[in-house]
Amino acid sequence: MTNQLPAGVVFGEEYRKLISECKAGGYALPAVNVVGTDSINAVMEAAAKNRSDVIIQLSNGGASFYAGKGLDAAEAMILGAVSAAQHVHLLAKHYGICVVLHTDHANRKLIPWIDALIDRGEDHKKKFGVPLFSSHMVDLSEEPLDENLSESARLLKRVVDLDMSIEIELGITGGEEDGVGSDVDTIDNSKLYTQPEDVLEAYDRLNPIGHFSVAASFGNVHGVYKPGNVVLRPEILEASQKLVSATHGLSSEKPLDLVFHGGSGSSAENIKEAIDYGVFKMNIDTDTQFAFSKGVGEFVTENSMAFLHQIHPETDQPLKKFYDPRKWLRRGEETMIERLDQAFAELGSVGKSVAK
Ligand SMILES: [Zn+2]
Repeated sequence: MTNQLPAGVVFGEEYRKLISECKAGGYALPAVNVVGTDSINAVMEAAAKNRSDVIIQLSNGGASFYAGKGLDAAEAMILGAVSAAQHVHLLAKHYGICVVLHTDHANRKLIPWIDALIDRGEDHKKKFGVPLFSSHMVDLSEEPLDENLSESARLLKRVVDLDMSIEIELGITGGEEDGVGSDVDTIDNSKLYTQPEDVLEAYDRLNPIGHFSVAASFGNVHGVYKPGNVVLRPEILEASQKLVSATHGLSSEKPLDLVFHGGSGSSAENIKEAIDYGVFKMNIDTDTQFAFSKGVGEFVTENSMAFLHQIHPETDQPLKKFYDPRKWLRRGEETMIERLDQAFAELGSVGKSVAK
């Protein structure tokens, strides 16, 4: 390990060093979607347990839920993202690991959300010297390439002085993530595979401005479906790396920082291959959602009386220690942590934390 970083949230130069460590070490970090303090704390606990760094991210729906369903959703998705970021800023260093803070898919109608979060990031940097998030995702993959890259460039210009990055999407990840996305069965199949020429154009236009990462599609889909007619072609990632490296005469064989969306349900072999081609971030949501709910479901099934009565109707036993929300929420955290143990192992990041 050549870079050691202080534990806590990383931004700018430190974020880029962390990515370099991942790529040089042949491993990637899970980017876990969270919806509240329970899932955030479970992610940090799992990362600390595995001595791995980790990426914590919020979709617009996750951020909105974090602030509360009682608030107007448009306002809540801004406030919830700010609140979640502040929670992680305060606690991450105590878990002794490095955390990347990210937001997930923002299509055209969600760009005002990103602009509002950048405004908040500017205020935060003025007061505390660091922005709120390490990176925001801009997903204009449904728009024409020129429009996608122009808008991504505009946002990258906004964040670059804040020590922030952006993640863009080229090609379309199949399936749906929190209302953003497309139907796997009806989408034009060619869109599920990014063209390396498009990746080169993105590099040419964005790299001179600042740091960005690329979610390139290689047949990956959001969610877990029965195996279907979409074939994974991770060699697209390799072809993109080679094209950019050769065109620019770069010494690095993997100049692009690649992101794997739709990690849930992926085989260990596909994950390994994607990492070999320069993937440093793998998004995981569906499988960790299921893991959390599975634990809660098991607890409720095992202690069903406590979810119907405060005192057991036959034994007169008080059931408080079973219906106390900390009991069943903790079970959800525990089973989410177990699923994350698997993710850290498959991504090869166990024991690789750069935090000193
Ligand atoms: Zn995604």
